[in-house]
Amino acid sequence: MDKLGSLCKRRGFIFQSSEIYGGIGGFWDYGPLGVELKRNVKEAWWRDMVTGHDDTIVQPGSPREYEMCGLDCSIIMHPQIWKCSGHYDLFHDMMQTCRQCKKMFRADHVWEQLKDAPWVLSFAEASSEPASVPELIKFNSVAAMNWAKTKGRKLAPGLALVRNTEVTMSWLAEDLQTNPELQLGVTTLLKYMATEQKARTGLVSPCPLCGGDLTEPREFSLMFESHAGAVKDDENKVFLRPETAQGIFVNFKNVLDSTRVKIPFGIAQIGKSFRNEITPRNFTFRSREFEQMEIEFFCKPAESRQWYTYWRDRRFAWYTSLGMKSEKLRLRDHAAEELSHYSCGTADIEYAFPFLEAGDYGELEGVAHRGDFDLRSHMEGKLVKDAAGNLVVDRGPDGKPKYAGSGKDLSYFDDEAKERFVPHVIEPSAGADRATLAFLCEAYTEDAIPDEKGVPQARVVMKLHPRLAPVKAAIFPLVKRDGMPEIAAKIYRDLKQHWNVFYDEKGAIGRRYRRQDEAGTPFCITVDGQTLTDQTVTIRDRDTCRQWRVKSGDIHNEIANRLTAS
Ligand code: ATP
Repeated sequence: MDKLGSLCKRRGFIFQSSEIYGGIGGFWDYGPLGVELKRNVKEAWWRDMVTGHDDTIVQPGSPREYEMCGLDCSIIMHPQIWKCSGHYDLFHDMMQTCRQCKKMFRADHVWEQLKDAPWVLSFAEASSEPASVPELIKFNSVAAMNWAKTKGRKLAPGLALVRNTEVTMSWLAEDLQTNPELQLGVTTLLKYMATEQKARTGLVSPCPLCGGDLTEPREFSLMFESHAGAVKDDENKVFLRPETAQGIFVNFKNVLDSTRVKIPFGIAQIGKSFRNEITPRNFTFRSREFEQMEIEFFCKPAESRQWYTYWRDRRFAWYTSLGMKSEKLRLRDHAAEELSHYSCGTADIEYAFPFLEAGDYGELEGVAHRGDFDLRSHMEGKLVKDAAGNLVVDRGPDGKPKYAGSGKDLSYFDDEAKERFVPHVIEPSAGADRATLAFLCEAYTEDAIPDEKGVPQARVVMKLHPRLAPVKAAIFPLVKRDGMPEIAAKIYRDLKQHWNVFYDEKGAIGRRYRRQDEAGTPFCITVDGQTLTDQTVTIRDRDTCRQWRVKSGDIHNEIANRLTAS
């Protein structure tokens, strides 16, 4: 991952946001190559899901024909939307704050972060069991005290064992005396090390950064807040949307009334979403500002299971069609206990990102069967499950809905069957940034190719699918004389009308190829001495490095055929 990260910066795929001011956690900028790649990811999605969808035929695996259309909603919407959708009440993470350094951590991430914390690793090493971190840290009081007074001071200044070694050790000594069988697993030991006053606080968890004592988990809202209008009071409080989906639900009736779409149909949207993630990390994987590509697909309740299966498989196939062919991509059905309270079925499309531990996968996209939860919420008000498992309006002690819905009728009348129903929804919800990152990870390849003298040279090549490649072709004059630059510039101008292409006349040809390999450019076109006599150029394939000659008049067709064939 480090190699990919440095390539992303060096070649202008992804930069840290506000870098010259030290950066800002959870925000990223896409550089000149990155912006093209991400736009291509989003355009491929929009084309394949919306504008390129053929609604006159039954798609492979689909129960019947269906229509697709798009929307582009505002980021800030009526705050009642988030109250009815459940985000206002439920969109929380349990957080723990360090009482020493004041940093916040997601409660469910603390122990995972502690495993890699420099101070924990250093302590384990000092306890002379370096190879067995973190399952076993042998407790050796002399080594612990020495560590606390030396390395611990620098690495874990907030740790109770460092701040007040004797008192902290005394609790452990006392407990070991009264209970010689005390199980000292690594978790318990680290808790003892973080606890200065056990009688008063009980055992506390340590901070992964400074070792300080963490508070009990508390709820923290993930929604960014702002105010619409001049007055900053609760009345004017608004939220930056944490997902694009709700904009689709609240426009369901507008779309029905303004188009002739009939159920089954889907509404797609691509746009920014914001979540105040507590521990943004793993590059763009968990950002605070990111883009989603979401579809809300409306269908008859009786057909919803079939549509769910269709969309699950259709979305998985989309990634493989764009070159994500390795076993790192997988489709995982959620177990019943993992499902959210409204969901009748969910599957995640996941990728084994290189920053995850071996065997771990990160979510690229969730495909969820949401029943009639969303449309009903915006009609009736926030819904909860009752004891019998039915969705009912969440009511306060006065019997009134806790958050009233719009009261608008969002049901659908089926002209043919002459029946009215609230459509069921299948939601394939993907992240444009996570998809872009996964495509980058999948594309990153190190291999060796022979140089002009036939000696193998290591190279880095981004084997991006041609549809996604930021630059489709690069055009080079072999040398800067004999009219070659003029011929190359003309080819460049011709191709520029169709694709994003690049002209380069500087440096050795091998180095120019190498730069394009790193940028993921599928084809390099070179004008050389032979071009001057027979008007042919060489085309070089990025992945195989094979070169062949083509008449200059045929270059456009050759590139077009190869771009569409892949
Ligand atoms: P996670 O469990 O990883 O936080 P989630 O289940 O909350 O994800 P959803 O609410 O289902 O995610 O959002 C749909 C998609 O939006 C995700 O599959 C992911 O691709 C993207 N996404 C969600 N949160 C983030 C984020 N913080 N940064 C980048 N992309 C995100």
